Amino acid sequence: MRYSRAVFKFQQSRESKMWILIFLAFSLVVTRHAFSQGEMGHSAPEASVVSAPPIKIHRPLETLLKGIDIHVTWAGSIKKPLVALTFDDGPHPQYTAQVLRILEEQGVQATFFVVGRSAKRHPELLRKILSAGHSLGNHTFSHTRLTSVRNGLLREELERTREIILEETGVNTCLFRPPFGAFDSRSLAELAIRRMEVVLWSVDSRDWVTNSAQEIRHNVENTTQPGAIILLHDVHPQTVEALPGIIHSLKNRGYGFATIPEMIPAPQTAWGG
Ligand SMILES: [Zn+2]
Repeated sequence: MRYSRAVFKFQQSRESKMWILIFLAFSLVVTRHAFSQGEMGHSAPEASVVSAPPIKIHRPLETLLKGIDIHVTWAGSIKKPLVALTFDDGPHPQYTAQVLRILEEQGVQATFFVVGRSAKRHPELLRKILSAGHSLGNHTFSHTRLTSVRNGLLREELERTREIILEETGVNTCLFRPPFGAFDSRSLAELAIRRMEVVLWSVDSRDWVTNSAQEIRHNVENTTQPGAIILLHDVHPQTVEALPGIIHSLKNRGYGFATIPEMIPAPQTAWGG
């Protein structure tokens, strides 16, 4: 089976493969340098939060991450006619509820990457998402760009949302989507230590740019291929408006719909909801 999961199994595009190899080479160099300077010393996670071994300051990155794979996924297998709808930035009291209704009517399962501060305000929506058979992922607490946040706050951004989801639903999700798709060596190491799996996307609906439902639908239709992970946001009315047409058209093209855990089997750890 072929998946677009960086370092190990990515096969879909030569250009993307080259990009990620360059990135990883760069990130290892940068992280190692940062570590040797002691800059990452304060980023050791709380022992109660992760099952990874305790981390000592100045420990080389290779030792620190020994046995821990770093996974960055942006598409599923090209051999199956499956796509994954993903909704970011919610839960939103109005639009998430509407999206859930449409998905239920259409018999489609999806994955919701929630922002912690919204999840805290609307925990009932987290439970509704899970009880309808969808999956939950972490999208930081306050939708912060991971590349520009301080070490202490980075930990908080990663952990708080996971804790809220766990407290409210009992599900300990390891799915993580970085806001703006932005991450660097420091945040990648923090995510890897916590066994969080980075899930990006291969199709951008651009529902965050346009308020035209028709344009959103065309963006998805024109770029979807087997294994596509489709980026949508359950915080915009135009996304709600576009959704029935998107599902209808993808169904007509023979696609089935999967959650991220269904599409991308867990490499080492259980995915959680
Ligand atoms: Zn977002």
